[in-house]
Amino acid sequence: MSGRPFLQIPGPTNVPDRVLRAMDRAVIDHRSPAFAGLVRGLLPDLARVFKTERGRVIVYPSSGTGAWEASLVNVLAPGDRVLAFDYGHFSAGFAAAARNLGFAVDLVPLRWGASVPASAVAEHLKPDHRAVLVVHNETSTGVRSDVRGVREAIDAKRSDALLIVDTVSSLGSMDFRFDEWRVDVALTGSQKGLMLPPGLGFVCASPRAIEVAAKGGSPRNFFDWRPILEDNAAGFFPYTPATLMLFGLREALDMLFAEGLEAVFARHHRLAEGVRAAVRAWGLGILCEEPDSYSDSLTAVVMPEGLDSNVVITRARDRFDLALGVGLSKLRGRVFRIGHLGALGELEVLATLGGVEMALRECGHAVAAGAGVAAAEERFLVLANAAEKAAVRAYGR
Ligand SMILES: *Cc1c(COP(=O)(O)O)cnc(C)c1O
Repeated sequence: MSGRPFLQIPGPTNVPDRVLRAMDRAVIDHRSPAFAGLVRGLLPDLARVFKTERGRVIVYPSSGTGAWEASLVNVLAPGDRVLAFDYGHFSAGFAAAARNLGFAVDLVPLRWGASVPASAVAEHLKPDHRAVLVVHNETSTGVRSDVRGVREAIDAKRSDALLIVDTVSSLGSMDFRFDEWRVDVALTGSQKGLMLPPGLGFVCASPRAIEVAAKGGSPRNFFDWRPILEDNAAGFFPYTPATLMLFGLREALDMLFAEGLEAVFARHHRLAEGVRAAVRAWGLGILCEEPDSYSDSLTAVVMPEGLDSNVVITRARDRFDLALGVGLSKLRGRVFRIGHLGALGELEVLATLGGVEMALRECGHAVAAGAGVAAAEERFLVLANAAEKAAVRAYGR
């Protein structure tokens, strides 16, 4: 098929050419001064992305699932009781990881499509809970949870439970404030908002989490923060790091900072608003029913009665080389997901929406040609106009 492939799943995302070029180089000695210089520059810049001055970021050659494990085994001891919520494939998976590692998980079922209400934390948090697990942006449902609200609910109960947050599909595309929200451990992966290929896992740990880990935690080796933090101080790792990925990370961070984190978040919001306008124009539902909790990095689109989402996804792939996210676990066949995060602009979203629209029509869902694309264009222009007016006001012109 001619033209570029459209990778519009909610991660892995499109890797910018600049990042690919930055990784296209000879592997260097990971014990050399040049490599140490790279690492010593990366760690504080990663902290900026997490919005922390007091947290420490740890980088693993792993996927997000490895970062789940790293964030649990350092701060929890076998048998420790934790509170978790089941509101999608990833929150359920995070809880299952904790159970598999030997922790006692109290899992509160919520509707898939809902966010974690602070009231549920208040209701279910017990004095012996050592941690609360939250997925900031549930990638299977397109729902963002209020992490600040969860922290306040923990504090209101005078609990010293650690707040552990999965930010795999939000960091670098939606606002996340490690210090301000008093998160203890946050984790992410390289292949979503950070615009890198899959292959790196990141954990950000607060001073309290590092202290807990120094004295306790579970039996661990590869994921142990202690030797990594020690070696990182000099710019090194206690194992062979993913050298070339780190050069890509340098470039990706430079791109994020050049655009400005707040501008990156505003762009994601604009793109998400366009996609949501298109979904409404198609007469389809958005799985997330609370507008305050809409995800700005992906949208889960609910299928009409009698149409299997996998049929539409297959059609989009076969006809247009357009990759859309499947419905995961119990959402299989019921939703498809449009990823709108990472290195992405308005025109790419419009092309994606055009592909979805044609696939829907070919699968028998009646929509007027261009209806979704037109609705998204309209939304983009309205938001761009509003942003321009705000800028003019801000500069007094
Ligand atoms: C993608 C994702 C994961 C899993 O990460 P892998 O890199 O696939 O292991 C975990 N949590 C969330 C919220 C995700 O979106």
